[in-house]
Amino acid sequence: MHELAITQGIIELCQGHAVGRRVLSVDVEIGELGSVVPDAIQFCFEACSRGTELEGAVLTIVRVPGRGSCNTCGAEMRLESLYDPCVSCGAYGVIVTAGEEMRVREIEVAD
Ligand SMILES: [Zn+2]
Repeated sequence: MHELAITQGIIELCQGHAVGRRVLSVDVEIGELGSVVPDAIQFCFEACSRGTELEGAVLTIVRVPGRGSCNTCGAEMRLESLYDPCVSCGAYGVIVTAGEEMRVREIEVAD
């Protein structure tokens, strides 16, 4: 259940940003290739934000599609999983260029 720790990290980051003001909304990017389950984050967020500056804030999760670049032929492609071979030449060892990230993109704070 590492989503709980991740969610607490998100909340702490927002609290640091809000310094006592109310947080209205948070946008979080979660890569499709990562192991983070967005529904679990959403669930933990509601539970963990109670009684904090983030209570009632809208959490928007944006999924970032996986992308990779082939080490052998240089092709760029959409990746469905971390260990997909290159769609163009079939080689393994495609370098993941997007889809593993997990970051807070935007925090909206009340004035
Ligand atoms: Zn290739």
